[in-house]
Parts: sequence; C-alpha cells; structure tokens
Amino acid sequence: MLDVTRIQVLIRGAVQGVGFRPFVYRLATEMGLTGWVSNSPQGVLIEAEGPEPHLDAFLIRVRHQHPPQASISAIEHSSLSPLGSAIFEIRHSAHSGPKQTAIPIDIATCSDCLAEIFDPANRRYLYPFTNCAHCGPRFTIVESLPYDRANTTMRKFTMCEQCRREYESPLDRRFHEQLNACRECGPYLELWNRDGHVCGIPENALAMVAAALKSGQIVGVKGLVGFHLMADAANEDAVCRLRVRKHREEKPFAMMAPSLESVRTLCEVNACEERLLLSPESPIVILRSRPGNSVAPSVAPRNPYFGVMLPYTPLHHILMNATGRPLVATSGNRSDEPIAIDESDALDRLGEIADLFLVHNRPIRRHVDDSIVRDLFGRPQIIRRARGYAPMPIMVNDALPATVAAGAHLKNTVALAVPMGDSSCSSVVISQHIGDLETKETSEAFHAAINDLRCLYEVRPDVIARDLHPDFPSSPCAAAQTERVQHHWAHVMSCMAEHKIDAPALGVAWDGAGFGLDGTIWGGEFLLATKNSFDRAAHFRTFPLPGGDVAARKPQHTAIGLMYEIFGDQAFDGSEPPLLRQMLRKDVRTPRTSSVGRLFDAVASIVGIRKEVSFEAQAAMELEFAVAEDTQEFYPYAIRVGKPLIVDWEPMLRTILADVRELIPAGIISARFHNTLAEIVADVAERIGESRVVLTGGCFQNRYLTERTVHRLDGCGFSTYWHERVPTNDGGISLGQILAAARELRDGGRILELQNSSSVPQFP
Ligand code: ZN
Ligand code: ZN
Ligand code: FE
Repeated sequence: MLDVTRIQVLIRGAVQGVGFRPFVYRLATEMGLTGWVSNSPQGVLIEAEGPEPHLDAFLIRVRHQHPPQASISAIEHSSLSPLGSAIFEIRHSAHSGPKQTAIPIDIATCSDCLAEIFDPANRRYLYPFTNCAHCGPRFTIVESLPYDRANTTMRKFTMCEQCRREYESPLDRRFHEQLNACRECGPYLELWNRDGHVCGIPENALAMVAAALKSGQIVGVKGLVGFHLMADAANEDAVCRLRVRKHREEKPFAMMAPSLESVRTLCEVNACEERLLLSPESPIVILRSRPGNSVAPSVAPRNPYFGVMLPYTPLHHILMNATGRPLVATSGNRSDEPIAIDESDALDRLGEIADLFLVHNRPIRRHVDDSIVRDLFGRPQIIRRARGYAPMPIMVNDALPATVAAGAHLKNTVALAVPMGDSSCSSVVISQHIGDLETKETSEAFHAAINDLRCLYEVRPDVIARDLHPDFPSSPCAAAQTERVQHHWAHVMSCMAEHKIDAPALGVAWDGAGFGLDGTIWGGEFLLATKNSFDRAAHFRTFPLPGGDVAARKPQHTAIGLMYEIFGDQAFDGSEPPLLRQMLRKDVRTPRTSSVGRLFDAVASIVGIRKEVSFEAQAAMELEFAVAEDTQEFYPYAIRVGKPLIVDWEPMLRTILADVRELIPAGIISARFHNTLAEIVADVAERIGESRVVLTGGCFQNRYLTERTVHRLDGCGFSTYWHERVPTNDGGISLGQILAAARELRDGGRILELQNSSSVPQFP
C-alpha cells in the first residue's frame, strides 16, 4: 500500500470562467483522489489527497490537459497532513486575500453550443443566450472576483430545474457553468422602436430584425459587449445613411459575415487569418479585399482592406443565419464616444441613428469594443485590444510596485501593475480600448476603467504613471508618487516589455505626436534604452507645424510648414490661407515637431493624394495604399552628426518636389518615400550599433513600412522586434508607462524636467 499524502495547489493565471474546476473535479475523481477544488481571488485552489505518485501524475495532467481557454501562469504546491477525506468536491469560492487571478475574458460560442442552437430537437434551439463552461460572456458581465454567478449580472436570473441539474452534474458540459440559462429561466430578446416601445412578439424579434436589415434599415443590436449598429453591407444606400446619421464620413466600417465561406467571397484569407477569424477571441480581422466583391463602396472608401469578423455569440449566429449576408457591424456610438451598453443610453445616443433596436435584459457591466487584429509576418498583430484579449495580463520579469498608468490621450487604454507577492515577476493588466479622451463620455469611461481595474483587483496604487503633457487629465486616484513618462519612451518600453527584452536596445518610435522633453512635439525618435532611462540618440529634423493640433487634420497645412522650413516665404504661392502665412512668419501657435506621422501627411498632400482628412492617419494610410511595389529605389537624405544625430529630410523633400514636377506617378513616389524611411532606420541603427532594434509607434501600423524596415534590419544582422500582443499605436502606451515609471523610481525618483515648458503645444 502506497503512503497517502495531501497537497495544496494554487493555480494562477486565466483559470476562471473556462471550466477549470469541473476539469479538476473530473480528473481527480478519475484518478481516485479525494479533497476539493475552489475558486479564490488568487486563482484556482486545490487540496488533493492520495498516493504520492498519483498526486505527481495529477499535477502533470493538470498542467497539460487543462481546458483550452485556460492559461496557467504558475502552479504552486505544498504538502499537508492527510485528512482522510472520502470524496472529491467542488467547494464554494474563497473570498479573502489579494486578488491575483486573471479576470476571465469573453469567449466566442463553442462548436457544441453552436450545434445545439441549430438543432430543432434541442431545448436550446435558437436560444440566443446559450453558452457553456467553455464559452460565453465573462469580462463584460463580471462585477467582482472570484468569477461566480452571484458576482455577475446573471445574478438576477434564477436557474430553472433543468438548468440547475446541468449545473450540478459532473459529466455535463454546463457543470458549474456560472451563466447557465435557457429559454425558461434566462434572458430574452425584445424588438424596440426608436421610442423604446416593444414591436411585435419577442419570439419573432430576430426574424423581424433580419427582414428590416434586408429592406435597408439600420438596427441597433445589443450583443455581448455593447451595441452594434448593423446594416446590409451590400446596400450602398443603407451604408450611406448610416454614415450620415453617425457623422462618420470615411473611416472604414467593420463587417460581420455569416461564415468563413462568405468571408472568402469578399476577401483573401490566408492560414493565419483563418485561425484568427475562427479563434475563441473572434476579433475583427483586417483582410485584403477581393476585386469584384459585393460590398457597397461606402463601407471602406479608397481602402483595399476590409475589417471582418464572424458571429461570436448565439444571438449573432442566429441573426447572421437569418439574414444570410454580410452586415456592417460598427460600434454603437456617435463618432468617437464609448460604445453604448444599456437600452436607455442606446435610445438616447443612437435614437437618431438606428431605425429599430434589438435589445435584451442581460445587463452588460462594462463596454468592451471588438478587437482588431491583422496578420503580420504570419503572426497575429493586435491593433485594437479589447474583447477576447483584455484584460488578459501581460507577465513581466520585474517586481513592480502597485502602479496605475493613465495611458495616452488618443486610443487611450489604462493599465494596472499587480505585484505578485514575493516573486520577481509582476502582471500588468491593460484595460480594454477606451478611445480618444476628447469627449465627456470618453473621459468618464477613462475614470471608470481605472476605478474598475482597481476595484476588481483591490489594489491601492503606490505610483501613478502619466504622460508629460501638463494638460493630461488627472488620474481619479491618489497615490504616494506620480511619475511622468515621456510618450515615445513609453512606446519603446511597451514593446520591450512585450518581448521581455532588457536594455540596451535601440527604440525606433515614430508616430503623430507626443510631448517631448524639450517642450517640442516629438514623433520621429530613436531612443536608446539604458539601464534606468533613455538617451535621445537621434531624431528627425524639426519643422514648424502651423496651428499645432489642427494640422493633424489638414495635411496641406503640414506640407506648407515643411516647405517653409526650407524655402521660407517662397513656400507660399498665394493659395494658402493668410492666417497660415502669419502664423509661420510670426511663429505663433506654431510648435516645432520631429514627427514622422506628419511627414507622411505632408508627402501625401504634396503628391496630391489628400489635402484634408476626416479621421486620424487617413492621409498616411492612403499614401501607403498607393505604393507601387516594383521599386527598390529610395531618395537621398542626410544624417547630421552630433548628439543627438539629426535625420535631415530636406534632400528627400527636394527630390520629391522634382518628381512631382516631372509627373512621376504618386505610387512610385510613395514607394520611394517608404523605402527611404526603411533605409534611414537601418542607417541610424548601424551608427548607434546596438544589436537589438525595437519598432514602435503608430507609424508601424503601416504594413509596407514595417515589412520593409524589418527586412532591411534583418539583412544587416540586427534582432528586430515589433508589437504583436500590445498595440503599436497609443493603445500600448499604458503598459510602457508602468515599466518606465518603475525604472525612474529605481533611479532615485528622478522627475523629468521640462527644458522649455513655456511653449506648451496642444494635443494631439
Ligand atoms: Zn459552449
Ligand atoms: Zn433554465
Ligand atoms: Fe504615440
């Protein structure tokens, strides 16, 4: 007879809301072990008793056979004296102690549930709130940890007898499924008109919505994460109406397609993209559109890509099945506000936009947008990190203090560093995408997101990390210390943290704008990461930006600023607004910038692609889309030696102007321009001589630029890193701020001094 022992096991990571406890229960029972499993704020807690070799085998199987959606960050175990328990059971959750478990994420409908909702013999046939222990909403409905029904918005529904039986039977897929529900006992749909009156009978709601969509109406659909505005993607008239009502001129709309086959009729789909479309995260995937597809031109004007997702809730599956066609599925908001999550809010804000509302009575606890992902070098790159990915923690090899990071002004996310006790690593939780902090609604969402993370994890922050810009909204919580982090340094640290690389490394941080240490607007930076901070090793030559933040919307103004830097008064041809001339001549409201993003705008304007934009980065995107790929040529440029090195774009600009005069096609000029930028990265990297190069900032959302730069650096023998799990745009700033703040503190709490804080440029 083998000696019986008892062990206590703590499993940390994303282990709640994924069927982990039922899995442990079944495994322990099968192996003849006794004891119990329960959820705790720190993770899944197990006590198991049995012969030692069996316990060893048990731990190995826990590690290797766990449910696919779970992700284990650590298994800790210690031995206890045997208690002689007779059975293995699932215990009620423990509620005490620091909250260190990962908050469960929302998971797309699994294949088992999908089969049930389309099986006329199943009791959940066409029931839109079907889910099981392996799929369903989580983050959007959880109110506190641990993840139990009483801590979710499903609390108000009492399970019927049949649901309860499923919940209690160990062999059922819904064993301990906290959200278990059916038509008898769970949430239900209603169709409302714009006044909030119920139309028709609830059972017919989905069929009526399908008919309305087919006839060209716009429907507000309350899904899992908030409201979508939906319309027939092939109906140009309906799509245009949606644009007019939503005040969204040209920014592409995302679509939801009924099936993978249907996506293939619209877009090219490679293996990586197919995996992403079908993944449990079910994001919007950026796909190259096929010529001759049936999509209305206004869905993505002048854009060779579509953002497409597949249905990810039973409600969407049933709706897409009923309409049988791709639908526009754009966030239910007015322009850049947060997405609406409850009915009254939707009627208020979307009443003028949607003709009908499909609503339900399961409350959504927090708004989470659809994530946006694309394939880059055969690997997923997250562009907007929200549903399915947030708030999955990023583990970093650093013992961080409890820190709140306030993120960036645009594409804001916030982050929280959760210390992991005595261990030398920490987890950083990045919030879902919040948006541009330009409206009252987004500012409220920003404050709510910070409070939300602090409350879920019950962390009292010691440090607040925030941007250098003096106008940045203040954080809603008090902390002992505020650390101010330069924008581009946060970009670089974000990418380094994601890849767990340490200094020294050369960070290439290119974007539209960030407040610089010298009071100018930075955006074409080469920052050398040192042990505790950074050196600005090189940057682009600065030029005047007439009107500051206004220029971001007017590439033509940026172009005039750039020309004025070289030609002075000769840059004016009389067609420009007189005010612009005065601003440049008198140097008023004209900050200087090294921004590569603005350089893109200026070139787009000079070659005649775009003089004004209706959404951020539109000119740069259209310049990228214009690239004629059959040239390796690049323009001359100069690098002025000094500290820092200055990248002088003047020779390039003069040649571009000559090309324009000679009527060289925009596609060729664009390719040469992109190639020049890749050349510049390689050249500066050679001069700095650091073997690791990190590419970060919004400019590296440009696929052509990123691919070309990576190839060029690879060719020179550098190890090159780019963002994958964390956005390269300002959505990644909050992660970088946390790491940069920790370093500054270690460096003795040095607060960055502004060298010239008198001329404060405006956002962005
Ligand atoms: Zn399921
Ligand atoms: Zn039920
Ligand atoms: Fe940025």
